[in-house]
Amino acid sequence: MKSADIRQAFLNYFEEHGHTVVPSSSLVPDNDPTLLFTNAGMVPFKDVFLGRDPRPYVRATSAQRCVRAGGKHNDLDNVGYTARHHTFFEMLGNFSFGDYFKRDAIRFAWEFLTQRLGLPAEKLWVTVHISDDEAEKIWKEEIGVDPRRFSKLDEDNFWQMGDTGPCGPSSEIFYDHGPEVWGGPPGSPEEDGDRYIEIWNLVFMQFDRDAAGNLNPLPKPSIDTGMGLERVAAVLQGVHSNYEIDLFQNLLKAAAQRTGHADTRHPSLRVIADHIRSCAFLIADGVLPSNEGRGYVLRRIIRRAIRHGHKLGAKDNFFHKLVGALDVEMGDAYPELREGRHQIERILLKEEEQFARTLEHGMGLLEEALAELDGEVLPGETVFKLYDTYGFPYDLTADVCRERGVTLDEIGFKRALEAQRERARAASQFGADYHASLELEGETAFTGYDRLEDRATVM
Ligand code: ATP
Ligand code: MG
Ligand code: MG
Ligand code: MG
Repeated sequence: MKSADIRQAFLNYFEEHGHTVVPSSSLVPDNDPTLLFTNAGMVPFKDVFLGRDPRPYVRATSAQRCVRAGGKHNDLDNVGYTARHHTFFEMLGNFSFGDYFKRDAIRFAWEFLTQRLGLPAEKLWVTVHISDDEAEKIWKEEIGVDPRRFSKLDEDNFWQMGDTGPCGPSSEIFYDHGPEVWGGPPGSPEEDGDRYIEIWNLVFMQFDRDAAGNLNPLPKPSIDTGMGLERVAAVLQGVHSNYEIDLFQNLLKAAAQRTGHADTRHPSLRVIADHIRSCAFLIADGVLPSNEGRGYVLRRIIRRAIRHGHKLGAKDNFFHKLVGALDVEMGDAYPELREGRHQIERILLKEEEQFARTLEHGMGLLEEALAELDGEVLPGETVFKLYDTYGFPYDLTADVCRERGVTLDEIGFKRALEAQRERARAASQFGADYHASLELEGETAFTGYDRLEDRATVM
């Protein structure tokens, strides 16, 4: 089943069950200035759950474009290295605003997966919140899920959009990709592996968390579910990684061609294929690269993609050339992408050119600093200034230093960086440290490489 067919089958199923099909909203939430990007299907409905935004329906379904690159749900560091995480993905959801609750939400999900999509029950694992005896009973007694594939967990089964807002206990459904893949079932010590992949999260929305952390009951218990389109497509297309599904094939080929790197399984190509989706859609939704807020996050994602391209050997501006392939893949479902295509290409190209100048300029400044160096250590303050004021990547500085036999004052750099983060945190309207969440350098971001190589080539 193609991704487009799965998307449609989902919306059809819920429409048949009385849900109004609601088109995807923008990635820039218009109802919440504290949220960086739309990170879940429920975001456009946030005020409906809170009882502040009356709608002519009590059941809705959508395929919502989402970005998770900053803020509470940030998957940037995972991209390219797990089988299941993107910065941009589509979340299929069904919602009940004070209408049906746990029983129907569970039944709908189970029926859709096992009847409509035909997934074997033995491949599906289920979790509920540790306190949720009611959901446990429904799963075990009414659905008949095997207790050996069922568990009750704590934090993983409490979902929240952000530090404040609607939230509640959840029930997650996982698919077992089989013993060839490393990993253990949810709740086991090996759950971080990629064998058991979460496909669907059913949230039993009951509370509104306020800024003081209190859980205030919602006007009516509600349902919010989210299923990752790319993850369920991987299951149905018999592949393990999201990057092997139909939606990514042309993108990966285009990226391979433009960077001159043939192995489409290379993590850097996956990163690029992922990032062109988030960048193009963010621009289509009106975000422009800049030095603050959402535009800053976008700029960093673009630069991260460019650096991965360089790492693969790309010599010229390649990133904007991928918009065409994306349009072929997703322009039908998202007309705003097709309409904005040339504008998106122009903006990306401009950003690529500017980054190239930044690199050239920074190289000049670094040469000067090295020429004037008194001793063998490049001060952390200098490295920080290159990075912060001139946008020159840390790992490039480290690379050049290594070539010249100069030591880089890493501790001083980190200290300066931390001080800057404190200032940014204090000033951020998003209540989130988006600088930290977008850290592009260092070990944490690229666990897939050994440290030296990583340092030398990626940021
Ligand atoms: P995981 O534990 O795998 O990171 P999650 O619990 O953070 O997933 P939810 O917040 O429950 O994810 O989102 C609902 C669904 O959206 C998930 O069950 C999954 O199918 C999908 N999803 C979440 N994050 C991503 C992502 N970064 N890329 C692709 N799909 C995702
Ligand atoms: Mg997650
Ligand atoms: Mg999870
Ligand atoms: Mg989840």
